[in-house]
Amino acid sequence: MQENNSEYLFSSITMDLSWNTDVGETMAGFFQRLKAERRLYGTRCSNCLRVYLPPRPVCGNCWQQMNDWVELGEQGTIVGKTVCYYEILDSMTGKPRTTPFVLGLIQIDGADTTLNHFVETPDPDHVSIGDRVETVLRDTLQGNVGDIVHFQWLGPPTTSSQGSKK
Ligand SMILES: [Zn+2]
Repeated sequence: MQENNSEYLFSSITMDLSWNTDVGETMAGFFQRLKAERRLYGTRCSNCLRVYLPPRPVCGNCWQQMNDWVELGEQGTIVGKTVCYYEILDSMTGKPRTTPFVLGLIQIDGADTTLNHFVETPDPDHVSIGDRVETVLRDTLQGNVGDIVHFQWLGPPTTSSQGSKK
């Protein structure tokens, strides 16, 4: 046998890593409402009135348990964003996502917090903080995280597209 052999041997293995996980009581409430009504809901603190989306079971300000669900708007505002030029594997398809794409921090109308999601747009370089987006749901809802396909970029805010603030 030859010493200092620098040749590496590889085996190609394909694995199926799909699994089911318990989303917890609060996210289950969110997905049940989404599936039944095609609407986004957040949880509201009865003490400070802060509305959480994604929903949380306990208020981060007050440590108060939250049991109030509030219906939120279909549109929102981009409060942070990045344009990505590197490929990632789309968790829904397992295939590389076409670059460039936009990841946004989105504040849905009626919510006080933000969620991260893809912003679909024909021109990633023209997406700006403050622009408006609309929620795009898949046609047949399944009650899971894949139900929100992406947020469609609508452009800069107009007087009629401003969300109603409390
Ligand atoms: Zn609170």
